[in-house]
Amino acid sequence: MSASTLTVRALSAGYHGFQVLQGLDLDVLPGITVVLGPNGAGKTTLLKALAGLLPRAGEAVLDGVALPPGEATACVRQGLALVAEGRQLFPQMTVTENLELGGWLTPARLRSERLARAFEDFPRLRERARQLAGTMSGGEQQMVAVARAMMSGPRLLMLDEPSLGLAPRMVDELLAIVRRIAAQGVTVLMVEQNVRKALQSADRGYVLERGRIVASGDAQTLLHSDVIRQAYLGVA
Ligand code: ATP
Repeated sequence: MSASTLTVRALSAGYHGFQVLQGLDLDVLPGITVVLGPNGAGKTTLLKALAGLLPRAGEAVLDGVALPPGEATACVRQGLALVAEGRQLFPQMTVTENLELGGWLTPARLRSERLARAFEDFPRLRERARQLAGTMSGGEQQMVAVARAMMSGPRLLMLDEPSLGLAPRMVDELLAIVRRIAAQGVTVLMVEQNVRKALQSADRGYVLERGRIVASGDAQTLLHSDVIRQAYLGVA
């Protein structure tokens, strides 16, 4: 069995004394891991806590090195990138400018190499390099957000509901991009509401309910499990 890229133990986090995550253990292996769960389960909180954007307790180790709690920049330097829900692009800046900002911690020469690579991986963005990000379609904006995250050269890419608001064809295109990224050796941890498509693309999954993991395992097994079929796919 391959070693985990990310090992999480007894992770707790919340807001102003309100504890959302109740001591989570996760082993995120190379490939794609999806986190599923109802609204308010704590999925976004999990990604933010790992990315150093929220205070947390417990341990998170990326490729053998502990991630510092509450230190987002240090987490990026250590190889973690987050594509937040809602993409958070700079709408008045061009595609290229948005991508360059994703490489702000990267030395200039490496940044140019990564930019060239991003345009190879996302040909649709090359055609639109000078377009203002705010004028692009939802799917194109999500691609910019993913490409921008890749500019930091992550070993772990975290995506918060990347398919939100996208047409089915765009969802498929985006998931194909995510699979390609994983095939290049970048481990992916993805929160998704699109349960069926997410599990079809992923290798493994966790189901989070009220801040606790209630099921986990191989994606195909989860897809056919009673807990997923009844609660998430509406199949009796
Ligand atoms: P969704 O699918 O709706 O995005 P989620 O599983 O990502 O849900 P979280 O966004 O992590 O859930 O929210 C978990 C809990 O934390 C919810 O009860 C939510 O109301 C609460 N919460 C989220 N953000 C804040 C905040 N900034 N301040 C206070 N409470 C918050």
